[in-house]
Amino acid sequence: MRRSQLLIPTLKETPAEAEVISHQLLMRAGMIRRLAAGLYTWLPLGLRVLRKVEQIVREEMDRAGAQEVLMPMVQPAELWEESGRWEQYGPELLRIKDRHQRDFCLGPTHEEVITDLIRREIRSYRQLPANFYQIQTKFRDEIRPRFGLMRGREFLMKDAYSFHGDQDSLALTYQSMYEAYGRIFSRLGLEFRAVEADTGSIGGKASHEFHVLADSGEDAIVYCHQCAYAANLELAQGRPAVPACDGALAPEKVRTPGIRTVAEQAEMLKLPQDRIVKSVVVMADDEPAVLFLMGDDELNMVKAARALGASQLRLADADEAEAATGVAVGFIGPLGLPAKLRVLVDARAARACNFSSGANEKDWHWINLNWGDALPLPETADLRNVQAGEQCPQCAGHLGIRRGIEVGHIFQLGDKYSRALNATFLDEQGREQVMIMGCYGIGVSRVVAAAVEQNYDDRGIIWPPAIAPFHVGLIGINMHKSERVAAATEQLYDELRSLGFEVLWDDRPERPGVQFADMDLIGLPHRIVVSEKNLEHGLLEYKFRAAAEAELLDKEAVLARLR
Ligand code: ATP
Ligand code: MG
Ligand code: MG
Ligand code: MG
Repeated sequence: MRRSQLLIPTLKETPAEAEVISHQLLMRAGMIRRLAAGLYTWLPLGLRVLRKVEQIVREEMDRAGAQEVLMPMVQPAELWEESGRWEQYGPELLRIKDRHQRDFCLGPTHEEVITDLIRREIRSYRQLPANFYQIQTKFRDEIRPRFGLMRGREFLMKDAYSFHGDQDSLALTYQSMYEAYGRIFSRLGLEFRAVEADTGSIGGKASHEFHVLADSGEDAIVYCHQCAYAANLELAQGRPAVPACDGALAPEKVRTPGIRTVAEQAEMLKLPQDRIVKSVVVMADDEPAVLFLMGDDELNMVKAARALGASQLRLADADEAEAATGVAVGFIGPLGLPAKLRVLVDARAARACNFSSGANEKDWHWINLNWGDALPLPETADLRNVQAGEQCPQCAGHLGIRRGIEVGHIFQLGDKYSRALNATFLDEQGREQVMIMGCYGIGVSRVVAAAVEQNYDDRGIIWPPAIAPFHVGLIGINMHKSERVAAATEQLYDELRSLGFEVLWDDRPERPGVQFADMDLIGLPHRIVVSEKNLEHGLLEYKFRAAAEAELLDKEAVLARLR
């Protein structure tokens, strides 16, 4: 495509509201624009990425034997009353009335709708198992839509639902979905990890999440260095899911989100005020740094404190922290104990710190701290020794913790929805049985953001080739002044396209500096530059986006690089 024919409104400045890299770069590269909180428009370049992610997901679902369908986004309340979730789901479910005052909701997920379809259409064991998927817009009225595409209110999800005659059949499909997910995230070119997970409000028994590993991830992943054990920390600590923190995992990521009062937080999180921990200050030398933490982030706080070279960790309330740092202090969030912080350390560290532990578990300790307490951070403390409840790894290996972005989630639902909605079939003996279900989600639009979180540098995005909006960026230096360059560039453009490459040709009469900066920002895998000087020698300038240096090559060598 010719750049002049596409709306690619790149920005020099980082938009003030964009807190994380993916949000900043997707805005700056002219790929998305915000309509309202959690609602984004996809511009031509961004949409090409989204469609590529979608296509890889679709191909692997088809390959795994799932059938594509498309269900309505608007769902009648009656179905949600049958499953019990009209009451249970809470304010994330956006409820609406039609002109006849009938209740509907915007679908945050589709268990009810698919189960209603299947109970009508599938009657016999001969039709089972069956697996249906769709790639469709979801709406969740998230308490805090933020980070751009990462936590939107409207977002694109691939959701699949499988139906079975028995548990063994479910286990087989679950395994094949698990493997399909592995293929999908490998093909997308992302570093990911599958972990044991909590089943949340979807319900059911076994469940795994797929996380793209990135420092900005809202989840903490505990994994063993030696065995295959990996779990979401919220499961490992046996605590319910909590809304995640505002980031601040490494010192350079420290930031000050909008100030919220404790009263506002308590109201928002539906918790008593005394369960809201206000702030945590980490003292590093004499420079205090404010870290924002909540829920399961104590470990990161301690890790961040150490990264800062802090000699101690101190808790302070919001006023004290503001006075000490001169910066506005945000909220921290709910913990298991009122106005206390729980820090997880191993027995050695607990002894070294002279803290008595509230727990007597084998080799780890929860330390309960009160406001004003100081926790020395001894060199020897091994904070990775996390006891992970019943799913503890079986080996004696050390555990590591990484941040992850939840991009996929699979569940063995059992008969939760099929029983509530009475989805039955006749078995071989003609007896009526309740179906068994599984469900499998991928956050297609979140994957786009996660890919950026994992692949960027200070000049912009570095798209994994499989989902780049175009393969090649083509620039003719001062083309509007040199007919020779213009002709050679256009010829190369035609030739590359006839060879099947997707080419973005920056044909605008812009300064080379602007064109180079834009091309880097957009992040296409390959860049080719045509210039008067190099044409003299029959050469082209080629650069792989992720490489440090450009190369001067003849055309055949450039084509070889592209393949
Ligand atoms: P989270 O823990 O991030 O809120 P979830 O566990 O509520 O996600 P699921 O119900 O498991 O989400 O939905 C399947 C997938 O949809 C998730 O794994 C995630 O990739 C994606 N997803 C969920 N909520 C959002 C959102 N608000 N914006 C973008 N993608 C989302
Ligand atoms: Mg959620
Ligand atoms: Mg989750
Ligand atoms: Mg989930």
